[in-house]
Amino acid sequence: MKVKLILPALAEAESPFWRPIKYSLFPPLGLATLAAYLDPNDEAELCDQHVENVNLDDEPDLVIIQVYITNAYRAYKMADHYRTKGSYVILGGLHVSSMPEEAALHADTIFIGPGEDTFPVFLQDYKNGKALKRYVSRERSIEQIPPIRRDLIKRHLYLVPNSIVVTRGCPHHCDFCYKDAFFEGGKGFYTQRVEDALSEIDRLPGRHLYFLDDHLLGNARFAEAMFDGMRGMNRVFQGAATIDSILRGNLIEKAAEAGMRSVFVGFETLSGANLLQSNKKQNLGKDYERAIKRLHDNGIMINGSFVFGLDDDDESVFDRTVEWAVKNGITTSTFHILTPYPGTRLYKDMYEQGRILTNNWDLYDTRHVVYETKKLSAEALKAGYDKAYKDFYSWRNIWQAAKTHEDLKHQIKHLFYSGGWKKFEPVWNFLIKTKGLNQMLPALEAILSKVKSNQKDLTWKHSQA
Ligand code: SF4
Repeated sequence: MKVKLILPALAEAESPFWRPIKYSLFPPLGLATLAAYLDPNDEAELCDQHVENVNLDDEPDLVIIQVYITNAYRAYKMADHYRTKGSYVILGGLHVSSMPEEAALHADTIFIGPGEDTFPVFLQDYKNGKALKRYVSRERSIEQIPPIRRDLIKRHLYLVPNSIVVTRGCPHHCDFCYKDAFFEGGKGFYTQRVEDALSEIDRLPGRHLYFLDDHLLGNARFAEAMFDGMRGMNRVFQGAATIDSILRGNLIEKAAEAGMRSVFVGFETLSGANLLQSNKKQNLGKDYERAIKRLHDNGIMINGSFVFGLDDDDESVFDRTVEWAVKNGITTSTFHILTPYPGTRLYKDMYEQGRILTNNWDLYDTRHVVYETKKLSAEALKAGYDKAYKDFYSWRNIWQAAKTHEDLKHQIKHLFYSGGWKKFEPVWNFLIKTKGLNQMLPALEAILSKVKSNQKDLTWKHSQA
């Protein structure tokens, strides 16, 4: 059987502000994970439209398309195209779980929730000519999943081919997050077995890893055992964690010892009222600056995530947030305009209040205002968001933020990482065009190497501080 797995490009790919590098970082791991359930005799092809042209002239037996909100229209078009040609088309992913009726119009079968339990059942049904219209995930476990089909990933097209996920979901329930909608009806957070995670890590070539887990420190026992197992593997890695998990116990020190060199942190807002509005309880009353200091003392760079447009935000929020991020030496920042994704509690609340302005999913890219704002006009929100990016990534502010680190090597790393990410777009574009992106990996590994000062390990052990 010929099987084609497709990740269609997001609508942002057509924006004048499109940054190819941002979408050439990670391969589509979810599709490669599903491919592992195919029969070894099946002929599988994995296509990521962000990094390659997708040939639509072929005639696969089975087409599997992953749908996010801003690639939904493109995904539906592809699905319709292949169905007309006689292929059997299945759709799955975050947007399908949020909008099943909409997606079902373009598919022979849709998948609600994660696919590890339902996809093997579908394959059996399909082979027996009895596939259902809809499969809903209920039994959640990744304890015994087959190894991801990494052989299908075109590694040379990505800056970070070694992406990895060892957990699913998140223990928290933020109102604006997709997580609860996607995992509805079953467990919302679960992990691999530690030994399986370590074997997967061991199989990956090179040094660098990027954990794409929503919350790598979400299960402290699992994370601690995995970090212990990783000591001595000579890895450097990046991942995501919450403020409270960074402040609690000594897990973050264990992560640093295992090779964590940068972490994505959802600060989201500096306003307590906004945190309450978002049900982001895990951030409430937490000392952000203490968490930042702890990360920096452990040689871990920070990618801070911030959301603009929550109801307590006024026109001063943009300057205040940028100033705070620079003053605290945040290495890179990801700013978002609040976006009420369908299926989330935020969308339901806004819908009931009559605040949703459009259901054009292409605009749900966190760069457009799609809801009625409160203390800010939509224009001020958009302009402030654009200005925040410009200001944060000005050379002046990159330098100011770098200078907050005590250690010179940490300052230099900050400059290279932040400047390299945002200030060398033509170089990235050239590397992508010439398919040489992966050659930059050693440079990334070098920037992420351990900060040492006078041969003294700066990794800070809280227990001894
Ligand atoms: S902590 Fe992050 S992943 Fe977890 S529910 Fe909140 S936004 Fe979603």
